[in-house]
Amino acid sequence: MNAETTGRAHRVLEAARRLLDDCAIERAPVDLVRLARHVGIGRIRELDIRLDGQLLERGDGDYEVILSRNASHTRRRFTLAHEIGHILVAAHEDGSMSCGDGPTEELCNRVAAELLMPGRFVHAAITADMDVSGFRRLATQFQCSLEATGWRVLNLGQITGALLVWRQQDDGSLELTAAPRTFGFGLPFDPGHVLEGDLPFVRQLAQRSDGPLAYTHPASGKAYRGDYVRLNKVLLMFLKTDGAAVPGRRRRAAAAPGQRELFRSGEAGE
Ligand SMILES: [Zn+2]
Repeated sequence: MNAETTGRAHRVLEAARRLLDDCAIERAPVDLVRLARHVGIGRIRELDIRLDGQLLERGDGDYEVILSRNASHTRRRFTLAHEIGHILVAAHEDGSMSCGDGPTEELCNRVAAELLMPGRFVHAAITADMDVSGFRRLATQFQCSLEATGWRVLNLGQITGALLVWRQQDDGSLELTAAPRTFGFGLPFDPGHVLEGDLPFVRQLAQRSDGPLAYTHPASGKAYRGDYVRLNKVLLMFLKTDGAAVPGRRRRAAAAPGQRELFRSGEAGE
């Protein structure tokens, strides 16, 4: 089931957009505390808890949110926005505040994305040459994680591209842990695909924390370009078709069709 198409998701996401309007949110980063107060969250505390967060009902439409003080700033913001989502969901249903059912959790995550990165702000901030560096800029502006920012931008459908999340294994290999959602073309690997650590490409990625990439589909000969950033063990990669070349960057010749090499890293100093 696609939550986007259900009336429930539509109503709750509409309520999230109304909440932004009611609180006169006009710029990023969104003042989440103001939103929280508006929906009845009278108290927000940061404590040592095992969960990311907890929503407590204190009666009479008065709520308390407890956030893990061990979570990152962006994680705490996401969690608070998610808990606001639960209140909006409850307001459109029978008022019960159940946590844990899959579709509700997913919907609350969508509400969190809407509140943290309001569509109209993000649309205004997206440029045609969006890449990982652009996602980073937005992540800072909206105080969201880089990955959440990337998904949000792609889910809005304004640009076409693939955000690939790789996790570096102990042996240096890279495992694809998340597949692109918005993507105008096919990649030859699925989640779980492993790039061996001894590939020249993977070794190059290990030497630099970020940089440009070029990729040619071995079968179709289609060329893609993009860039990547490595954050500890996670490598975020953004690819788009070569047809939508990134302005201000030199274009490189595409690798020959059928070429074994999957990726080439960009030239040094670019
Ligand atoms: Zn939840």
